[in-house]
Amino acid sequence: MADTAAQIITIDGPAGVGKSTISRKVAARYGFTYLDTGAMYRAVAWYLVKHGIRLDDIPAVESVLDRITITLLPAEQEDGDVGVVLNGEDISAQIRTPAISMVASTVSALPAVREKLTAMQRQIGAQGRVVAEGRDTGTVVFPQASHKFYLDATPEARAGRRAQQLRERGETVDEAQLLEMTIARDRQDSEREVAPLKKAEDAVLIDTTRLDADQVFEAITKLIG
Ligand code: C5P
Repeated sequence: MADTAAQIITIDGPAGVGKSTISRKVAARYGFTYLDTGAMYRAVAWYLVKHGIRLDDIPAVESVLDRITITLLPAEQEDGDVGVVLNGEDISAQIRTPAISMVASTVSALPAVREKLTAMQRQIGAQGRVVAEGRDTGTVVFPQASHKFYLDATPEARAGRRAQQLRERGETVDEAQLLEMTIARDRQDSEREVAPLKKAEDAVLIDTTRLDADQVFEAITKLIG
């Protein structure tokens, strides 16, 4: 890959498709910053829930957006999630729950929320050398990105992988419920009016249903060069 400061790689796709694992590996391979945009939507969702703010109370949501500062921290472990600090409080663990996933999806349909977080993401990307992961990073946040990828897989494969991850963490899993939630979240993310989940026209589509993380990583880094 040509070594210019303006390099941005985007990796979008539905829930549980393996974006985080792949994005982390790609970022490490090129020495880029990993930008987990979903963590920001999760942080806003967590704050609104914690303070009992109704998602249809738009003025209240907007005033919250003026009051919060979100900082992303590098993951503590090589294969861990990024950390998130909101107004000085470390909420890294609290935002990674199924309940917050669903609220984040609802919150992320609000134009004011997207506007604020998109601006923050562009600020982080301004220096280049970023791997951005999310739903709209290739279509809306960084349309000028140098390399765009869209990962997809069947809902069954994605829910199955999530279930496996949770089991490895020692959690009990209802796989049927997980599948239902995955499908519901994708539908909500794809059908919203502002910045819906979709493949950028110039993104490379990779179906990961039958691929493991190493194979997806190989395919992406081969294309980037
Ligand atoms: O990727 P993650 O599962 O952490 O994202 C949580 C939610 O945040 C998604 O379901 C989606 O609704 C929202 N999101 C978004 N745009 C992004 C990243 C995440 O709308 N770029």
